[in-house]
Amino acid sequence: MANIAFFAPAASGHVNPTLGLAAELVRRGHRVTYATTAAYAGRVAETGAEVVPVTSTWEGRDDIEVPQMHGKELARAMLLLLDETRAMLSQLGGERPPDLVVNDGPMCWWGRILAGRWRVPAVETWPNLVSNAHWSMATEYTTFNPLSPRFLFMAARLGRFLRTEGLRDMQAFMRGDEAALRLVTLPRAFQYAGETFVDRYAFVGPCLSERDYRGGWEPAGDLPVALVSLGTAYNDRPDFYRTVLRAAADRPWQVVLAVGGMDPGTLGPVPPNVEVHRHVPQLAVLRHARVFVTHAGMGSTMESLYFEVPMVAVPQMAEQRANADRVAELGLGTVRAPDEITPDTLWRAMEDVAGDERVRERLAWMRRQMAAAGGAPVAADAVETVLGRR
Ligand code: UDP
Repeated sequence: MANIAFFAPAASGHVNPTLGLAAELVRRGHRVTYATTAAYAGRVAETGAEVVPVTSTWEGRDDIEVPQMHGKELARAMLLLLDETRAMLSQLGGERPPDLVVNDGPMCWWGRILAGRWRVPAVETWPNLVSNAHWSMATEYTTFNPLSPRFLFMAARLGRFLRTEGLRDMQAFMRGDEAALRLVTLPRAFQYAGETFVDRYAFVGPCLSERDYRGGWEPAGDLPVALVSLGTAYNDRPDFYRTVLRAAADRPWQVVLAVGGMDPGTLGPVPPNVEVHRHVPQLAVLRHARVFVTHAGMGSTMESLYFEVPMVAVPQMAEQRANADRVAELGLGTVRAPDEITPDTLWRAMEDVAGDERVRERLAWMRRQMAAAGGAPVAADAVETVLGRR
């Protein structure tokens, strides 16, 4: 049995999609370690992996506004990630090298660097849309000016840092070219230009785990359930939540509203058919939901599709717009720009997708695509294949 070391940034959208794979590898008898912060230790421990405790530069930093991942903000985002990478590398790497690294592809630069230092194969988990010459997030959604002073400053700092690690090709590093395999946790049918991703990509679909650490959830009665959440990052949107409360008043629905870090008490009166929480056990609620009003983070999008729940996507940043457009294009729900939302338009959109027979058929189709992709067992098979090639 092998020693497998997991690395992912301290972010639900990047940790949650790996949990089913970690659990499956533990079930198969491998020793799995997972470097993560105290906030994520509970969910990681639940998989049976050994938690390697680390502290993040992002913890408790309410003063840092979560950057947008395009335009002027991209350079700031990458500098924050560079600081995080240095901090993680100062805490990790002293242990005995594992046989294989599993690291998050889009953000976990330190996992990539450690695999290189240890000279062990890396399998990357990609919890979002991937890019190539045929379809790319950077040309379609996250445009930025690579010649702006801000970007050039960031690139110079990153380049200097990578050179100290013996890495001279920044583009290759950013793409994760050294990885033996990229495990994309969506079905290929959801990926734009999915058929063009051939070499070293495996579309395994979502690798969900039980997540008992969050507790369960049951509906209060027989009313249809609507879940509303903008996820864990771009969720400081009190006006949107107030619109939801106004929209839900007197409707024959049970509405579950997750507001993230803000104080639910500041939203004003809450109608009796609405429950407001900071954080909900999302899988447990989705199991009962008839519609999901979501920011269309990829984790939430896949979870909604897994439970065949139609979506009203209200994207809050560029990558979420890409996901939301794909939801609409594939007939799995509908998309609304945040500034178009009024209580009436929101409620109409929810009722329309919840009652649309064609959407239901498309959801059943996508669920079949997911089943064929195989999820955690297929992902674990792929990891074992890479292990066997060492
Ligand atoms: N999540 C949850 N409860 C909440 C909000 C989010 O369990 O109240 C989980 C959700 O199930 C998903 C993750 O947090 O697994 C959010 O990831 P996603 O990619 O959807 O969005 P992000 O938070 O990264 O924007």
